[in-house]
Amino acid sequence: MLKKLTIVFASFALSAFAANPQNKLSSKWEELTASDFRDAIVQSKGVCILPFGILEKHGPHLPLGTDLLNVRYAALHAVEQEYAVVFPEYYFGQIFEAKHEPGTIAYSRDLQLKLLQETTDEMARNGCKKIFIVNGHGGNESLIPYFAQSQLDKPHDYVIYAIIGERNRPGGPAKKSTGIDYHAGENETANTLVTHPELVHIDRAKQESGGDQARVKLPEDVYTGIWWYARFPDHYSGDGSVAAKELGLWHIDAWIGSIVEAIRAIKADDTSLKLQNEFYEKSKHPLETRQ
Ligand SMILES: [Zn+2]
Repeated sequence: MLKKLTIVFASFALSAFAANPQNKLSSKWEELTASDFRDAIVQSKGVCILPFGILEKHGPHLPLGTDLLNVRYAALHAVEQEYAVVFPEYYFGQIFEAKHEPGTIAYSRDLQLKLLQETTDEMARNGCKKIFIVNGHGGNESLIPYFAQSQLDKPHDYVIYAIIGERNRPGGPAKKSTGIDYHAGENETANTLVTHPELVHIDRAKQESGGDQARVKLPEDVYTGIWWYARFPDHYSGDGSVAAKELGLWHIDAWIGSIVEAIRAIKADDTSLKLQNEFYEKSKHPLETRQ
């Protein structure tokens, strides 16, 4: 990362622009002036990132905002390599399953969708025609694809892109724990040791068990909303006590890399919006669609 920055700065070395770091545009929406925001949208080619976190218990040892803090860390480091505008803290996602724990903020289903739609509509009205949702919270993994899919319901002049799914790459330093590691366990604790070491209370990680309680007996492909509570009622899955920073560096570096790669691909994509517009047009008169 440092090497790339050196190259970027070297290429501007003779210009007054680079001589004054004050002139470098921030990636953070809230740090830009109104007129710099205009330049930022040009520089980002209309790509704006919405890092999506949550406020929920993370075992006995990690902060409520772990997902928000970690996703913002990854997004803000990615845009150092490939510029994009980053929307402020956003944590209005799906977290009904943690409503029994202190500190959880769980907005209603309708509001989650409405707020996300109005947020992306407002971003697009301000020039973000490519909105890239980077998810930091497992509980959003059904919400975000549904939200993206539902953009086909009526015309929008922008495209929603999203990264969801596994944030921890296989390999790297050997894990010390074995078994399930879904939430506040070795992986996530290691990641947080990289992003916000001052907020990790690793000495408390053994105060509760992150074991799978497996209280409902159903075939694996039968889904219920209570599945998470049935298995991990204390919002802890895995063993955070054995986490080490080296493993976190491995995961976070991969996460940043995947965001950078996605930003570049999104900037280059001029097909999605064209196809969306074609689709909206055709969906007005489906009987004319012959094949
Ligand atoms: Zn988390």
